[in-house]
Amino acid sequence: MKKKINIAIDGYSSCGKSTIAKGIARELNYVYIDSGAMYRAVTLFALNHGYIRTDGALDDQGLEKALDLVLINFRYNTDLAANETFLNGQNVEREIRSIQVSNHVSAVSNVKAVRNKLVKLQRRIAEQKGVVMDGRDIGTVVIPDAELKFFMTADSKVRAKRRFDELKSQGVETSLEEVLRNVNSRDEYDSSRANDPLRKAADAITIDNTDLTIEEQFQFVMGHAMRRIDALQGVRG
Ligand code: C5P
Repeated sequence: MKKKINIAIDGYSSCGKSTIAKGIARELNYVYIDSGAMYRAVTLFALNHGYIRTDGALDDQGLEKALDLVLINFRYNTDLAANETFLNGQNVEREIRSIQVSNHVSAVSNVKAVRNKLVKLQRRIAEQKGVVMDGRDIGTVVIPDAELKFFMTADSKVRAKRRFDELKSQGVETSLEEVLRNVNSRDEYDSSRANDPLRKAADAITIDNTDLTIEEQFQFVMGHAMRRIDALQGVRG
């Protein structure tokens, strides 16, 4: 049997990281882990339990104290051929994609105790190998020893349009302007925050997909993955 590798895919919001990561995981028969879904689930918990006040302020100390009550896991839905996110036993896959969660997730993900909890969980999952994980700090913090790392980026207007179309297709009501504002503010917040900011790992391969199709990106990433896996088997190519 072929040895399994871990693949880290980091990058800006709405870059299509999950589309590529899911496709690669399916092709290689690996596990896909959406680390952003975990931060979104904690944000939903914070919203539901009053740790984000109506004026938008985050009670980070209150949230930190309640973190032991937050149980996040993924369950595979065979109909969708994808993992769905569960928060304390409830399927929250749809709710965590709302614009309200998107508007608060960056602040929640800057809370050190939240990061500590989720990074620990992500590392445990990655230990089994054969994981494709996407996020902001996967190649730099969560699995710095991943055999393959990518850093995805694209023009922010193109990204906002893609996200807007995705939300629309899911029946979520919003405007392109609001999505662009959210994409820009999350990029800025995620890149400048104190804890584990978004940055490219020194050994990550950059993919600017502004003008690339999904198929082109998929082939590019698959090519690298196959070479890396073959190299592990001692096959040259
Ligand atoms: O990937 P997605 O856009 O769903 O992530 C939502 C938010 O979760 C990001 O904007 C970022 O603030 C946070 N995040 C993070 N570290 C990760 C993944 C996501 O801080 N590894």
